[in-house]
Amino acid sequence: MASDLDRVDEHRRSAEWVAHLWRSPDAKLLKLDQQSRFTTNAGGSKLRMVKPFVEYDSQRHRLLGLLDEVPIFAVEALTEGDVHDFREVAHQLTDNERDIAATAAGMINWHRSEPHCPRCGAETRVINGGYARHCAGCDLELFPRTDPAVIVAIIDPEDRLLLGHQVNWQGNRLSVFAGFVESGESLEQAVHREMAEEVDVRLSEVNYFGSQPWPMPRSLMLGFWARAESSDISVDGEEIGFAAWFSRDELTQKLAAGEISLPTKSSIAHRLVQAWRDGELT
Ligand SMILES: [Zn+2]
Repeated sequence: MASDLDRVDEHRRSAEWVAHLWRSPDAKLLKLDQQSRFTTNAGGSKLRMVKPFVEYDSQRHRLLGLLDEVPIFAVEALTEGDVHDFREVAHQLTDNERDIAATAAGMINWHRSEPHCPRCGAETRVINGGYARHCAGCDLELFPRTDPAVIVAIIDPEDRLLLGHQVNWQGNRLSVFAGFVESGESLEQAVHREMAEEVDVRLSEVNYFGSQPWPMPRSLMLGFWARAESSDISVDGEEIGFAAWFSRDELTQKLAAGEISLPTKSSIAHRLVQAWRDGELT
């Protein structure tokens, strides 16, 4: 899904240029609270942005970019009214607003949690409108970290989908399987390893599906769908408490009866399950 947000990479290094944008009469500011929940309108279906009215502060105000020439900023501040996190409302937002919300939450999370240089420990200063920090102690430029995680829809030889329940989940929620990519691994290796660890499934085919930023606080979810060599599974019992294969009819019946529930509509997990139900994973 494309976004029209122009991240103005070539200009944002100039603090003067960014300050000029801040003073533009049509500039907009998105406020996020200490949990990186942002202000919204209409039950979370629209972001609520306000006009900046204080002086520009390069250390606090984050330039996200230009949307149709309109400067968009974010700030961590006291919020009032309707606030929601990305997980709650991403599916209701337009592609552009979803990009703004994910970028704002990811950036605010990073500045909040990593004010010091990881190499020398000195304090760092925000540069590039908020897209980087600089350490005066050792001249290192720092950028937001992203944690890649794979999320995989596994289909058996009978075209059934494997869904599992994590031991720390509430209720009867089921989903496809996910795990973080470890240091030195390719995405494909992470897919094979995670699925072997969690449900002891061997995969004969792994296909890329799509990705989604998940700034809770800084993940990038990389979606795959894969074919299992057989329908044999064995759950690890530590992370996954239960797993089973579902035909499309079984899934529809159990959802209708309220016996199971699926992940939030905002998640790529939901998109993967829906794509399988629609017969698109072939
Ligand atoms: Zn340093």
